[in-house]
Formats: sequence, C-alpha cells, structure tokens
Amino acid sequence: MNAIPQRDVHPGQTSSAGFLDSVDQNFRHAMTFLDLPEGLSDRIMQCNSTYTVRFGVRLRGRMFSFIGWRSVHSEHCEPVKGGIRYASNADAEEVEALAALMTLKCSLVDVPFGGSKGALKIDPREWTPQELERITRRFTQELNKRGLIGPGVNVPAPDIGTGEREMAWMMDEFRRANPTDVINARGCVTGKPLSKGGIAGRTEATGRGVQFAIQSYLRDPRTAGLNGKRDLKGAAVIVQGFGNVGYHAAKFVSEEDGARVTIVAERDGYVTNADGIAVEALKQHQIKTGSILGFEGATSFPGDMSGIEQPCDVLIPAAMENAIHAGNAVRIKAHLVVEAANGPVTFDADKVLRTRGVTILPDLYVNAGGVVVSYFEWVKNLTHIPFGLMERRRRERRNQTIATTLERMTGKEFPADIRDEFLEGGAEIDLVRSGLEDVMRSTWIRIADLIEQQPELSDYRTAAYVASIRQIADAYEAIGI
Ligand code: NAD
Repeated sequence: MNAIPQRDVHPGQTSSAGFLDSVDQNFRHAMTFLDLPEGLSDRIMQCNSTYTVRFGVRLRGRMFSFIGWRSVHSEHCEPVKGGIRYASNADAEEVEALAALMTLKCSLVDVPFGGSKGALKIDPREWTPQELERITRRFTQELNKRGLIGPGVNVPAPDIGTGEREMAWMMDEFRRANPTDVINARGCVTGKPLSKGGIAGRTEATGRGVQFAIQSYLRDPRTAGLNGKRDLKGAAVIVQGFGNVGYHAAKFVSEEDGARVTIVAERDGYVTNADGIAVEALKQHQIKTGSILGFEGATSFPGDMSGIEQPCDVLIPAAMENAIHAGNAVRIKAHLVVEAANGPVTFDADKVLRTRGVTILPDLYVNAGGVVVSYFEWVKNLTHIPFGLMERRRRERRNQTIATTLERMTGKEFPADIRDEFLEGGAEIDLVRSGLEDVMRSTWIRIADLIEQQPELSDYRTAAYVASIRQIADAYEAIGI
C-alpha cells in the first residue's frame, strides 16, 4: 500500500483548518482504496505551483495595490483550466484547494485539461465597472507575463464575482499583449459573451449540469431516489446562493422538473414560500433592488442565516465552500444534498450527514457542467467554426424528407405540435445541451458502476475521487512520471 502524502504548509500561510484540509482529507481517504506506486500519490495530490501576483493600479487619484493568485495543480494534461474568482476573503490556500478540485473534476468528466484556479482579493461591489476593467486588464498582464494565460497553457473561466464581462476584458487584453499570435487568442479564456467567441449555453451550464446530475441520480434504479420517488415533482428544494449557479439550478428544477423552490438563502438572509418561489421573478427583484429580501412573492427573513437548516427534500448549496460544517451539519434536514458550489460540505460535516442518512452528490461531479461547456467553447475557438454549421441545413432537409415520406405512406399529416422540433437541424444551444447531458449522464454511470463493483467505497464522493485519481494515475504512468 502506498504512503498517504502530507501537504506542505504554504509559505506565509497558517495551516488551513478549512477548505484545503477538507480536499486533502478526501484525497487521502480515496487513496486508501487505490494501490498507487510509491511517490505517485504525492505527485497527484500536491499543487505544482502557486504564483502570487501583486500589482498597483492608479484609481481615484491614488495608487491601489491588489493581490491575486493563480495555482496550477496538475499539468498531466494541458492546457490547465479553472475559474478566476473575485472575492475579498480569497487566499492562496483556497485557490490551491479549488485548483485540486479542477484536476479531479476534469479527469472525472474526461475533458482533456489539468486543473488550475485563480483569485483576486477584491470585493467587486466596491468598484465601478470602469475601475474593474482596469484592474482586470492589469491582472491579465501579470498572468500573461508569467505564462498563466493562453489557449495552449492556461485557460481561465468565470467563478464567484466574475462573469462574461471580465472574460471579455481578459481576452481582449491577452490579444493586445500578443499581437503576432491572435489566431487562437479567443481560446485563452472561456465563459466569454457570444459576440466575443463564447458559446451558447455557457452561462447556464453549471446550473444545467446540476439539473442533469439530480436527474441522473434519481433515474438510476440502484440509488435510493428521493424517499423512493424518481423525479422532483412537488419536491421541496432549498437553494443557498442566488448567483449564476444557484439561480440557474433553481430555475431549471422548478420550471422544468416541477420542484418547489421553498427557500432561497443569500448572504443577507433568506426568503421562503411553501408553495414554491417564482424563481425568475425573484431574480428580477434581485437585479432591481440588489437583494432577494423584500420580494413580494415570499416571506423575508433578513439577517437570518438558518435558511439551509429548514426542512426540505433537496438542499442545493450554491454559494461558497464550508457552508455546511461540523457546527450546523446536525441541523440540516434535507434528504439529498447536491453540491453545486465547490467544497460546500466540510470533511467532518460529510461524516455527520452520512451518519444521519443524508445522501450527498459531490461537487466534482455536480458542478462539472461549467468546465464541460467551457471545453466545448475552447474547441469552438480553436476550430474557428460554430458547432453544427456544416450539418444543420442538411439535417433539416433529411428530416423534411422523412416527414414527407411518412405523410405519403400513412396518408396522414405529421402532428403540427412536434413538426418544428422534428424538422429542426440542431442549433448550437441544442448541441451544447445534448453534449452536456451526455457527459453528466455517462459520468453518473461511471460513479454508480464503481460503487456497485466496490461497495466498500460506500459514498458517491469517495467513488468520484477514486474514479478520477485512478485516471490521473494512469496518465502519469503513461508519460513515465
Ligand atoms: P456568483 O458570484 O455568481 O454567486 C454566488 C452567490 O452566493 C452570490 O449571489 C452571493 O451573494 C451568494 N453568497 C455569498 N456568500 C453567501 C452566504 N454566506 N450565504 C448565502 N449566499 C451567499 O458565483 P457562482 O459562479 O454562482 O459560483 C457559486 C459556487 O459555484 C462557487 O463555489 C463556485 O466555485 C462554484 N462553481 C461555479 C461555476 C461557474 O460556472 N460559475 C462552475 C463550477 C463551480
């Protein structure tokens, strides 16, 4: 049996009692089920490098200093990939934990990237868009100087506090800094606006993936389902975090799968409606007022952080890491916890929840939709052709021929309500959703099959880690490291 690696404390950092520890403990636990050659487990677990960048930007008539990080966890596959978050509580250890999760996630869903992650220690709400643009462009210059951005080396994406806008600025700055090599420059970041080389469905991708993950779990007869039920109709769902991921997940499970979103919890309190919150109306209220509180279609509980502890069938933590910890895990009343955020359940809380019979769908599977569609976007940027362009009209003509032939043979008209959908040749958004659904479904089967073959793995997180680490180990062994 291999020795289980210990992590070096990051220079200048206190030993983390949080997120990074949880990821490390999950790693170590999974490695007890793998018989890796001496030294390989260290190689897989340790973060290859973490760059700290400090830079100044002249704003509001004075110089402001900023600090940021870009960690490259593993280069067994290149380029490396991972989001950049803007958050005032960001630090190097958090970035390393997130980078490790990216390596595991990419391997689990089989997209050809190593793991990376970045952060800028900044509260974006304190800066105007013009100021944020200057800060983002300076940050991009620093990343570019160190080879930490580029379509073949390192490809950032949105995360907490960043979105399409920041990605467009980064891409533009990268192009300016590399004027003799612009042909593939669009592939230097993903999550861009459509007009700047983005892909249809990227913004919704992580939330859409959360929906596919829940569906895959519920439809699998080998799982316990939801109190024996195999769908979300009428199920009470609590969502924590009403940003990109939380909003889209809430929207899809309520509008398409018939769930009742009974509570949405945010950083300033929660709103509740036992009949189900109108998710889109709540989003419009949040955009207008800057908060979910005061929404007329629900009762507000300002300043109350106990929203996630209320009774429900499914809890979707979609805000930040360590949301469910040893202190509040005993009060969680959900039957199923779906980790849309990265690291929302600590290692200790995971044990408490499982002892209490709560099923957890792990982050590295549940929120992989973002990186899957980022992969599609990157491929689109490198091939320089939108998905489906060459095929679409040909498919439409073929479907038209089938429809006409059926009508002739049966003497009946093709049903009008499904005619358009049948004839449609496949727009980019349809292809993206179909590709994402396929990856999420097949990855679920991989996790569930592994647990069936090795029941001692006992939970979905361990199975996902084991499946992922095994694949990374194979890649390292194949290249002789
Ligand atoms: P976001 O910034 O769009 O939204 C985060 C939301 O959480 C915000 O509305 C914020 O106010 C809220 N929040 C912060 N602290 C909170 C607290 N203590 N309680 C309740 N709400 C709180 O970020 P996002 O892109 O939706 O990311 C959310 C999570 O999903 C993060 O863990 C991120 O790493 C993960 N994730 C995001 C993507 C992506 O494509 N955006 C992909 C994979 C994983």
